[in-house]
Amino acid sequence: MGRLRDCVVLLGPELEPWRCASFEWTGDTVTAVERTAPARTLESGALVVIPGLTNSHTHMGDSAFPDGATGLTLEQGFFRPDGFKYRRLAGLAREEHLPHVVNHLRYMARTGTVAHMDFREQGPAGSELLREASRITGVDSVILGQFSGVPFGAEALAANVDPLPADARRELEDVLGVADGFSESTMNDLTDTAWREIRELTGRLGKLRAIHCLENAGYRDVSLARTGRGDLARALELYDPHLIVHMTVADASEVALLASSGKTAVLNPRANVCLGLPVPPVRALLEAGANLLLGTDNGMLNSPNLFAELDFTYKLAKSQYGDAVRPDPLAILRMATSNISAVRGPAHPGCLEAGLPATFVVLDFHQPHLRSTQHLPASVVTRITPEDVLATFSRGRPLYQDPRLAL
Ligand SMILES: [Zn+2]
Repeated sequence: MGRLRDCVVLLGPELEPWRCASFEWTGDTVTAVERTAPARTLESGALVVIPGLTNSHTHMGDSAFPDGATGLTLEQGFFRPDGFKYRRLAGLAREEHLPHVVNHLRYMARTGTVAHMDFREQGPAGSELLREASRITGVDSVILGQFSGVPFGAEALAANVDPLPADARRELEDVLGVADGFSESTMNDLTDTAWREIRELTGRLGKLRAIHCLENAGYRDVSLARTGRGDLARALELYDPHLIVHMTVADASEVALLASSGKTAVLNPRANVCLGLPVPPVRALLEAGANLLLGTDNGMLNSPNLFAELDFTYKLAKSQYGDAVRPDPLAILRMATSNISAVRGPAHPGCLEAGLPATFVVLDFHQPHLRSTQHLPASVVTRITPEDVLATFSRGRPLYQDPRLAL
C-alpha cells in the first residue's frame, strides 16, 4: 500500500483540483481518496497529484537522432523511401538502437508520461524493438506498426486500383502479430483497395488504425488530384481510423467533417511549427466538440516532454480565442489524460478516483515557482519542469521516483 497525506489531487475526468487528507493505493488500484475542499490556489505549497500522462503521437524510433531534421523539409526529413529518417534508421544496428529508445522512454517517465501511441517504422522488427523497450522500462507503448518499405510505385498509386502486393500483405500480417495496430504516413502512400484490405484485416483482429492527415496542404492536394477526395475524407471513408494525427491545415469543412465523424484527432503543435508549418486550429476543433489528444511526434523534432507540449498548446489556443478567459487550462490537460479513454476504453480512464488504476504523477508544488500559485490548473499546464516531477506511477508501479519523495 502507498499513501500521500495532505495533498491536492486532480479528480475525475474533469480533473477538478481537491485538497485531500489522504490519497491511497493498494496494488494497482487507487483505494481511498479523502477529499476535504476544492483547491484552486495554494498559499505555501503542496504535493499535487495528477493522472499519468499519455503522449498520443510519437515516433520514438528516431529519438536516436535528436534535431536531425533541422534544416530539412517534411519531405526531405520524413518521407519514404529516401528521407533522412529512413536512411538513418536503416543504418542503425539493433544493439545501438534499443538503448536510445529505452533512454527516451525513461525520460518520458521522468516527465510524467505513462503511455504513448507510437507510429513505429521498420516493419515487424521495428515493432519488436519498441516492445522490448516497453518491457524494460514499464512505459506502456501502444505500437502502431508500419511497412518497412513502399508497397506501391508511382504508376500503381496513380491508377489507384491494385490490392496490396503479396509480400506487403505478408508483412502486414507479421506487423499485426507484434503490434497493437497499424499506422501509415499519409493516405497517398497506398491505393484505395489496399486501405480497404487493411481496414478489414485490422478490424477482424481487433487492432487500432491511425493515420497522419492534413499535416500540410500537399496531403490534401495529392489526394484530390488522384482520387477527387481530400485525404481526411478518404481516411474516414476507406480506413475508419481510431486516430487522425495532425489536422494542421484543416479548413472549416474539414474540422466539421472530423467532428461529425466522432473520431479522435491528435494534435502536435510543437512538431508542426518546428517544420515551419502552420499551427493546428485548436480553437475551432475545441469549439466543434472534437475529442482531442496531444503528441510530441518525432524524436528528431522534439523532446517527448508532454509538459512542454501542454504549455505550448494552451498558449496557442489562448491566442486563437483572443480573450482573457478561454480555454480552460484543464481542457488542454484533458488532451493528455482523460480524453484517452475514448480510444483505449474504460481500462485506461486517464483520471483518478477510488477504484480506478493507480496511474498518477506527483508534482512538487513546494518549489519556489509553484508554491503560491493563484491558479493551480494553469500552473500545472504551463510551469512544470522535469525537476518538479517527484514520481510517476503506472498501475501502482513506480516508473520514476525521486529520492526526495519518501512514500
Ligand atoms: Zn508523426
